[in-house]
Amino acid sequence: MSYDYELFVIGAGSGGVRASRIASSHGARVAVAEEYRMGGTCVIRGCVPKKLLVYGSHFAEDLADAKRFGWNTDGATFDWHTLRDNVAAEVDRLEGLYGQTLGNAKVDVIQQRAVIAGPNLVRLADGTEISAANILIATGAWPSIPEISGAEFGITSNEVFHLEQLPKRAVIAGAGYIANEFAGIFNELGVEVTLVTRGDKMLRSYDQEIVDKLVGMSREKGIDIRFNFPFKSITKLADGSLSVDGGEQGIIETDLVLFAIGRVPKTADMGLDTVGIALDKDGAVIVDAYNRTNVPGIYAVGDVTNRVQLTPVAIREGHAFADTVFGNNPRIIDYATIPTAVFSNPPIAGVGMTEQEARAALSDVKIYKSDFRAMKNVLAGRNERALYKMVVDGETDKVVGLHMIGPDSAEILQAAAIAVRAGLTKQAFDDTVALHPSMAEELVLMK
Ligand code: NDP
Repeated sequence: MSYDYELFVIGAGSGGVRASRIASSHGARVAVAEEYRMGGTCVIRGCVPKKLLVYGSHFAEDLADAKRFGWNTDGATFDWHTLRDNVAAEVDRLEGLYGQTLGNAKVDVIQQRAVIAGPNLVRLADGTEISAANILIATGAWPSIPEISGAEFGITSNEVFHLEQLPKRAVIAGAGYIANEFAGIFNELGVEVTLVTRGDKMLRSYDQEIVDKLVGMSREKGIDIRFNFPFKSITKLADGSLSVDGGEQGIIETDLVLFAIGRVPKTADMGLDTVGIALDKDGAVIVDAYNRTNVPGIYAVGDVTNRVQLTPVAIREGHAFADTVFGNNPRIIDYATIPTAVFSNPPIAGVGMTEQEARAALSDVKIYKSDFRAMKNVLAGRNERALYKMVVDGETDKVVGLHMIGPDSAEILQAAAIAVRAGLTKQAFDDTVALHPSMAEELVLMK
C-alpha cells in the first residue's frame, strides 16, 4: 500500500516539530499541518513571551533597588507598547526559525487545519485528502473558560500578550502556574492585582511550605489573594469596567479578568471519533508508553495526551516517538524527577518529592532547610527571604526532593536537579565546596 507520506503530523508545536524533524532525519517522508502559527503554545503564547514579560516587569524592582547601589533612577518610566511589541517581534523571529528548521529538515509544512478522516487519512480545511502510513496528533491544549454568566468578558493567556493598554486593575482566577506568573508580572507593572482561587491551596503539586512563602511575599508586594472565592459571574458596567460577583466574598470591580484555571487537551472536532480514538474523561488522547493510541498507526504526544503539560516533556515524547517508529530505536520517556518552575515573583522551583509526598511514601524522612536573605536584597533594603528545602530519605541518605523559592531559583535548580536525578546523597552535597558568595552555595550548606 503506498501513501502520500510516511508520517503526517497534526500540530507544529514543541512536540510536533521535534517529531517531524527527527522522523525526517531517519529518512521518512513527513508533512506537518498547522492551523495557526509555527511553534505552538510555548513559542507563540506561552513560555517564551511570558518569560520576556517576567524580565520586563522585574525592572520595576531592579530600578527601585538600584538606588541603594548608588544609581539615580528618578524619571524612569515604563511603556507597555514598547515591551509588548518587542516581545511580539521576538516571537515572530522564533516562529520564522521554526519554519526554517522544518524546511531544512525537508518536512512539508501545510499551513491549514487538518483533521483525521480515516485510519490512514487526513483532510485539510480546503478539502484536500492526504494519506499517511502514520499519523501523529500533537494539537496541544487550550485554556479552560469557566461556565459562568459573563465569562465572555474575561480573557485567557491567549489574549494577554496583546493588550491594547495595561489595565489599572485586574482579577486573575486560578491558583496555578499562569495565575501566579501573571500576578507577578502585572503587579510589577503597577496593575492592582486580585488573585482569586476556588480552594484554599495554590500550586498543589509544589511543596506547600514554599508555596506559603510565595503567598506571603505576594501579599507583601500588594497582590490581594483571596482563597475560597466562589466566582459566580461577571457583569459589564456602563463605564466599561467589570463587576465580579464572588457570592459571600462580595463584589470586585475591575478592568480585566484573566482566567488561568487550567488547559484542556485540544481534541474537539478533530475527527478522532471517525476512527474511534479513545479519550479520557478530560478529552485527552489515551496513549501507551510508546505514544500509541488504540488505533494502529495513530500516535499522540504533548499536552493533547495530558500526561505532563510541559514543553521539554512534549519535545522528548516527540523525539522518542520518531526514534521508535522511524529510527529502529524503541524508547520511552522516564517521567520521574522532572524539574519544574513557576516564574512568579520571586520564582519557585522544585524537583522530586515534596515533603508531603515523601512523608506519605517513606518511613524515615529528613528535612534540611536554608532560610536566608540574598546578599543583594540585604543591601537593597528588601526584606525578602529565600527558602531552600531538601527532602532526604533517612534510610539511604539519598536526596529525593529539592524545593526552593528565591531569586533565580529556576536557574539554580536545573543544575541541582542533575544531582537529585543521579540519586546523590546529602553527604555528596555536603562534600561539595561552597561557591562563595552565591545563593546556590546554600545547597551545600543546608542544616
Ligand atoms: P494549572 O494546572 O497550573 O492550575 C489550574 C488552577 O486552576 C488550579 O489551581 C485549579 O484549582 C484551578 N481551577 C481549575 N478549574 C477551575 C475552575 N473551574 N474554577 C476555578 N479554578 C479552577 O493551570 P494553568 O492554567 O496555570 O496552566 C496550565 C498548565 O500549563 C500547567 O499545569 C502547566 O503544566 C503548564 N504551564 C507551565 C508553566 C511553567 O512551566 N512555568 C507556565 C504556565 C503553564 P485547584 O488547585 O483547586 O484544582
